Amino acid sequence: MKYIVVSGGVISGIGKGVIASSTGLLLKMLGLKVTAIKIDPYMNIDAGTMAPTEHGEVFVLNDGGEADLDLGNYERYLDVTLGRDNNITTGKVYKQVIEKERAGEYLGKTVQIVPHLTSAIQDWIEQVAAQPVDETDETPDVCIVELGGTVGDIESAPFVEALRQFQFRVGQDNFALIHVSLVPVVGGEQKTKPTQAAVRDLRGLGLVPDMIAARCVEPLDRSVINKLSMFCHVGPEQVMGVHDVQSTYHVPLLLEQQGMVRFFERRLKLDIKQGITKSM
Ligand code: ADP
Repeated sequence: MKYIVVSGGVISGIGKGVIASSTGLLLKMLGLKVTAIKIDPYMNIDAGTMAPTEHGEVFVLNDGGEADLDLGNYERYLDVTLGRDNNITTGKVYKQVIEKERAGEYLGKTVQIVPHLTSAIQDWIEQVAAQPVDETDETPDVCIVELGGTVGDIESAPFVEALRQFQFRVGQDNFALIHVSLVPVVGGEQKTKPTQAAVRDLRGLGLVPDMIAARCVEPLDRSVINKLSMFCHVGPEQVMGVHDVQSTYHVPLLLEQQGMVRFFERRLKLDIKQGITKSM
């Protein structure tokens, strides 16, 4: 199983969901089976009790699970059927650990965020990633894991730590990370500083970006891509410019044109069964 984590920096609502879905779609077009997990770092068990003004549409899954609208994006982009467990919230994972503690399953140990909660998060990801999500009933090849919120928030800290540990659990060849960041345009100039700071925060927490998806209102200048590469310690081919488009269904094309698929093919040693142009 290959895992691609999509995290975000600078601000929320930056397009992580669209980039996660688009990445999954590109890999699916190569003939790989793709599933997805959304992590929502809030205490609610699910989105069912939240007003639509909080995080938008509540998406109801086939098994009745009430989740964030990103689950709907995954289902539409990837043509899969997901269940309630494909959405992990802080509430759900705490509930599971507390119930286990009440049942005496920790054998008298002190139950802590590290390692108990972080292990529960990792076990959850591994178990759900292996669930078949289409009519073939086969185990997926790739799992896209979208981490909601912004890296550095108190809310997402246990998940960031769990993912930091997870990269060692599954191994370097099976774990890659896309960090979605913002390049604001101020006085006509594309500014890289917020992304530099966001990537520094990410690295400080032990996660290394394999790809930086830089959201901007306009196409990124080549010089800005080079600057991001230089100051964020990644190759220029690891910086994807994702500008505002009329329809978010154009985002997969934008990523494809910039070589995302070729990059992940090498980085994750993907076993490609079919050429992308053939299936497009
Ligand atoms: P996040 O997952 O970071 O909260 P979403 O993927 O839900 O962000 O996107 C937030 C909003 O921005 C959505 O309404 C989405 O349609 C829009 N959006 C995302 N990417 C783009 C883009 N490249 N161009 C235009 N709108 C976008």
